Amino acid sequence: MRTFEYGGIRFSHWTENRFRLDGGAMFGVVPRVLWERVYPPDDKNRIALSTNLLIAQAPAFTALVDTGIGNKISDKNRSIYALEGPGMPAGFPLPLDAVDIVVLTHLHFDHCGGSTVEAEPGSKTYLPTFPNARYFVQRTEYEDATDPTERSRASYWEENFVPLHDQNRLTLLEGDGTIYPGIRVIVTGGHTRGHQIVLFDTREGPVAFMADFIPTTRHIPIPYIMAYDLYPVDSLKARKRLYPVMAQERWLLVFEHDDEPKQGFLEQESDDRFRFVPF
Ligand SMILES: [Zn+2]
Repeated sequence: MRTFEYGGIRFSHWTENRFRLDGGAMFGVVPRVLWERVYPPDDKNRIALSTNLLIAQAPAFTALVDTGIGNKISDKNRSIYALEGPGMPAGFPLPLDAVDIVVLTHLHFDHCGGSTVEAEPGSKTYLPTFPNARYFVQRTEYEDATDPTERSRASYWEENFVPLHDQNRLTLLEGDGTIYPGIRVIVTGGHTRGHQIVLFDTREGPVAFMADFIPTTRHIPIPYIMAYDLYPVDSLKARKRLYPVMAQERWLLVFEHDDEPKQGFLEQESDDRFRFVPF
């Protein structure tokens, strides 16, 4: 975990779990001879990733962005994804009832699996992990997650989000906007139709959680888009629109899936080239 103060808000970038995915799938059309230099794979062609979540503690709120993989995962999936940890809520660095706001960037299991827990071990009844929190996600994301296609179905596990909706704990957002004073969302689409990034406005400028828009610091080059993205051309267009703004307004970017928690800025080198500057 890395903890830092920035513009009057205390941030904790906390590793919920570690897992592995196929390196080729993570880099899409980029050939291995290019990506293996920046992200060396293991002997099964997999790269080491983590779920690095963001906690923001301000005078008016305690917010969490994404909830990781959680602890409801089957042994089969544990071994497919080479999970290392027990998952949320184990090790969460605050009391669970201290969290007021949970923003979900989208509803894939590695982003919202920690949102619910079993009411009793082995039961099929699920409760919100954070008893006092309101959860937020885009309406389009909820619609797609509850009506998945053959291609998206494997990542949408309804026990992670339907109980939140049924128990009236989930607010469905309609596009970009402020969800609470100082907390904004921007829909990027691309990875999924309703994928959003989350911004905290601080006195020093925005701190922005990238989720799967830029999953790791090694995905910053504009064409380095995951094969998992359902709408990769939309990802590309969103990058071309947002990267210059991120660089000019000096957003502090927080990345979710590097093997260790990473934060930093984008510096524009030319029209379509951006450099990572660690924080
Ligand atoms: Zn992800």
